[in-house]
Amino acid sequence: MGRIAYVNGAFERHGEAAVHIEDRGYQLADAVYEVWALFDGRLADPEGHFARLERSLSELKIPMPMSRRALTVVLRETVRQNRVKDGLVYLQVSRGVAPRDHAFPTDPVSPAMIITVKAIDRAAAEAKAAKGVSVITTPENRWGRCDIKTVGLLPNALAKQAAKERGAAEAWFVDELGFVTEGASSNAWIVDADGTLRTRDTNANILRGVTRYTLLDLIRETGMKVDERPFTPAEAKAATEAFITGAGALVLPVIAVDGAPVGKGVVGPVATRLRRLYIERARETAI
Ligand code: PLP
Repeated sequence: MGRIAYVNGAFERHGEAAVHIEDRGYQLADAVYEVWALFDGRLADPEGHFARLERSLSELKIPMPMSRRALTVVLRETVRQNRVKDGLVYLQVSRGVAPRDHAFPTDPVSPAMIITVKAIDRAAAEAKAAKGVSVITTPENRWGRCDIKTVGLLPNALAKQAAKERGAAEAWFVDELGFVTEGASSNAWIVDADGTLRTRDTNANILRGVTRYTLLDLIRETGMKVDERPFTPAEAKAATEAFITGAGALVLPVIAVDGAPVGKGVVGPVATRLRRLYIERARETAI
């Protein structure tokens, strides 16, 4: 069976699924998205992702296309039809289809919604995590509302491509004060010389990562020290460990920043432990 996509109420063959050319998501990036990790075919961190979806939509004054309960049913059914156990579910909601105009449509339109599911090779992901990845840094050039998970991802896409061309897995944006904000598709963390975990606070212009919040809970439960305080690329290079978090990365050790090793330049015990703890928690709480 091939891949199946959900498009505005219908399940369609992935290769043939399409949206209208005047979908405002397509023309104006007037759309938001969410991504859930899947463990054993179940949605990880459900509450956090649903809450953020609702908030992103409400910030843009786009109505929820259906209730959370109905959405859960549709997401699960899309996963089931794709027979994916380990992977990612992508959901996008746009303001809808209307004649092109920057201002919102005068006549009410229904939001347009699509869902796709992608399988992930967990063994390969674990091997990657065991080796660690490199990141590059790049000047922050995104808009001021990165807390809203919109599909306007061109700066992120360009940053990611620059990382790829330099053999790195992620790009960290650096703001005008010289502090790392976050990655192109992940939140950024370091472990200080004194063992304190550090990640950017959410008053900054960053996405409030769901994985980040769950990990903060886990860190506090373990009694480890954590400080939501900015760090510079130089501090990251001088740190004992670094890592990134996200629905795709989970907790992924970073061993080099701009070609300079972090700590000893190998995967460290803190990131390894946090990855294990996160995966355990995500499995326990997935729905
Ligand atoms: N920051 C950005 C810019 C992202 O795109 C993502 C995930 O896609 C994250 C952070 C991590 O967020 P989450 O943990 O909710 O996946």
